[in-house]
Amino acid sequence: MLDIKSKKPLIIAGPCSAETVEQTLETAKALAASGKVDIFRAGVWKPRTKPGGFEGVGIPALPWLVEVKKSTGLPVAIEVANAKHVESALAFGIDMFWIGARTTSNPFSVQEIAESLRGTDIPVLVKNPMNADVELWNGAVERLAKCGIKQLGLIHRGFSGYGSSQYRNTPMWHLAIEIQKRLPELPIFCDPSHICGNRELLLDVSQQAADLNFDGIMVESHISPQSAWSDAKQQVTPADLVAMLDTIIWRAEGSDSVAYQTSLDELRGVIDRLDDEILNLISKRMEAAEGIGRIKRENNVMILQSSRWNQVVERVLARSEELGLSRDFLNIILEAIHIESINKQNRVMQK
Ligand code: PEP
Ligand code: MN
Repeated sequence: MLDIKSKKPLIIAGPCSAETVEQTLETAKALAASGKVDIFRAGVWKPRTKPGGFEGVGIPALPWLVEVKKSTGLPVAIEVANAKHVESALAFGIDMFWIGARTTSNPFSVQEIAESLRGTDIPVLVKNPMNADVELWNGAVERLAKCGIKQLGLIHRGFSGYGSSQYRNTPMWHLAIEIQKRLPELPIFCDPSHICGNRELLLDVSQQAADLNFDGIMVESHISPQSAWSDAKQQVTPADLVAMLDTIIWRAEGSDSVAYQTSLDELRGVIDRLDDEILNLISKRMEAAEGIGRIKRENNVMILQSSRWNQVVERVLARSEELGLSRDFLNIILEAIHIESINKQNRVMQK
């Protein structure tokens, strides 16, 4: 049986979708020949946002994966979204399943899958839900664990948001860190393909994952990415994937002083990422304050409203214990934010 904890980093790669027997086998053979891929992935049932797109080949693609296993020796993994998928995939001896982001968002579907897996020992990786909800992610894992699934893992594939961003799905690394904190015994893999939505950012995001102590990556690779039937922009050729895998630095735990350096680097990586997120959030908060400035100007209302500000401060300070942050520290931060908000609103008023 496949052991997802047997190697770090574990590399799962393959096309977004199994499209044809040739495309599936050619991709798998190229990946296997590199010697750098541990598990072959391919989507057989594709959850699409709108009807009319390529929704996957379905059951007829399962024998292709059996052929991949036979000809390359690589274990094969697919996404399952309901009990029927599980039943068909088990019948073909698929080695590992993952639950897609849209499915994790739906407790009914997760429960159905969990129950259909009772009594099996197949590893299951749970992608984060579309929305930034760690509870829901954790809940899906609990449903599977309650049905006796022993080999569980996590996949961080970023979170859906409104509006444009450099990412297709914002990584929100702090949520991946939070789930690792809650479920420390579970391996966590990064899916840079669905975070990025394009080839250009893949290496950067994969390196960030490596630096955040992920246990491996699941990345999309296609024999001819530009003509892929789904997610063409984010897939890479097996050769490009190999080049990327050779570039990612998976920092090792070694001798005393090296180990020390590694932990230090990781922690600094976390701090940089969190600082970026804090700054992005503060910037969003300032935008909201400017919005308030504009409506105050339109309605001829003055900027400073002490009672409202006192409420803001009180609300935050009441959380000081729960957050593990001193009241003094929170006061300093709030004051700095307030001063900057007022400056921004002043500028809006003067326009
Ligand atoms: C996929 O892995 O091809 C997929 C559909 O991913 P997600 O569930 O993360 O959107
Ligand atoms: Mn995809």
